[in-house]
Amino acid sequence: MSERIVILGGGESGTGAAILAKAKGFDVFVSDQGPLKDNYRKDLTDHAIEFEEGGHTEEKILTANLIIKSPGIPKKAEIVKKAKGKKILVIDEIEFACRYLRGKIIAITGTNGKTTTTLLTYHLLKTAGFNVALAGNVGESLARKVAAADYDWYVLEISSFQLDGTKKFHPHIGVLLNITPDHLDRYDNKMANYVNSKFKLIKNMTSRDYFVYFVDDKVSGEEARHRSTEAYRVEISLDHEAITSAHFDGKKMVFQFGKKSFKIAQSDTTLKGVHNLVNTMAAVSAAYLAKVPDALIREGLKTFKNAPHRLESIATIGGVEFVNDSKATNVDSVIYALGSYENPLIWIAGGIDKGNDYNLIKDEVKKKVKTLICLGKDNEKLKKFFGPLVPRVVETQDVKSLVRLALEEAKAGDVVLLSPACASFDLFKNYGDRGDQFRAAVLQLKAEKEKVNA
Ligand code: ADP
Repeated sequence: MSERIVILGGGESGTGAAILAKAKGFDVFVSDQGPLKDNYRKDLTDHAIEFEEGGHTEEKILTANLIIKSPGIPKKAEIVKKAKGKKILVIDEIEFACRYLRGKIIAITGTNGKTTTTLLTYHLLKTAGFNVALAGNVGESLARKVAAADYDWYVLEISSFQLDGTKKFHPHIGVLLNITPDHLDRYDNKMANYVNSKFKLIKNMTSRDYFVYFVDDKVSGEEARHRSTEAYRVEISLDHEAITSAHFDGKKMVFQFGKKSFKIAQSDTTLKGVHNLVNTMAAVSAAYLAKVPDALIREGLKTFKNAPHRLESIATIGGVEFVNDSKATNVDSVIYALGSYENPLIWIAGGIDKGNDYNLIKDEVKKKVKTLICLGKDNEKLKKFFGPLVPRVVETQDVKSLVRLALEEAKAGDVVLLSPACASFDLFKNYGDRGDQFRAAVLQLKAEKEKVNA
């Protein structure tokens, strides 16, 4: 009889692991405590993989030779403890995928900026003609990609939850963007545990590998410099004077790899904002180390389109640019958004406030915002704080009237910026829904205006 693999969790990573395990000839069973999404149910059925949803049947799980758990399931989960009690090896999807993976991995982690940096790195390799897959937290799971084909390169967005489950995971290029307190509930509320988890990125690296990290970030920078690794260190800094592999000299990003050096201006890329200088320097370094020639890197930087809802420029109507930054659900993200524009702003904010400290953006708002439009059910806190600081505050709960209102408030050259600093659940399903509705309303308004002018 073939070995039995049980997979806990039937999301993207669980389903990907199941497909790979089935392809490798194992007897596979998937168990999810909750309901499965339709597409994953279909995937499992199409691959003739047995599964259950809405609960775990212990007799079917604890007979496994190996258990693969989804990163969302904590080690302390009852079923995981029981499996360990029975001495069943429990690993994660990434670790399992790595057993069968033949290409090289570029792994990207950090508290913020992972998706942007991962997508950009992938784009740089892809447009240079590399045989490369995009995997991990963004898009499809690594296991699904490994099951589908042999790639030379895998660009992988990896979270700390996923790193937790790794043992032999060995990226050729590891990128660490930053570490700020997040998800500490999964780490016994100890920052040190979260940091250790992130540093599993470099655990198995050798002198043939590269560790790329942002040295200015207090936690990751300090830690990275103090931790020993055989990997070649590639430091990134925004300090104009820094002597690092990549830094920003005040005008351009400067790269120095051995004797080779080249410069790139942010205006020659499609990304805006200081945070994206860091992401771009990380992605360019990774691509260069993967041997993408700098001329092709420059080309790729011009054609990159970031994931939606992150400072996404939607359209310009009568000289007014509309930008969707719906992903900015906290004040930290809004700092970056406000810092990305020199233009006068019509700023749209509001939703569910998760305990925001608006003092962090007070000065920027005062300097740049002409009108604040509050979008949400309860706008009292925003109105009270910013009322005395900005010339005008208006409010609405309807997206269609919102974009008209914004256009009325703006002059050519202004930017309408949806960067809400709040969660979206009062009026929308999630931040994606908020951004999608905003985009649709802007495009509709643009079409109407063009019709009138035609
Ligand atoms: P993640 O996948 O880690 O959530 P994203 O690339 O989706 O990161 O960016 C999410 C938000 O985080 C962005 O809208 C921006 O406000 C912020 N951000 C992006 N890059 C960085 C960075 N390098 N440092 C700090 N914040 C960043």
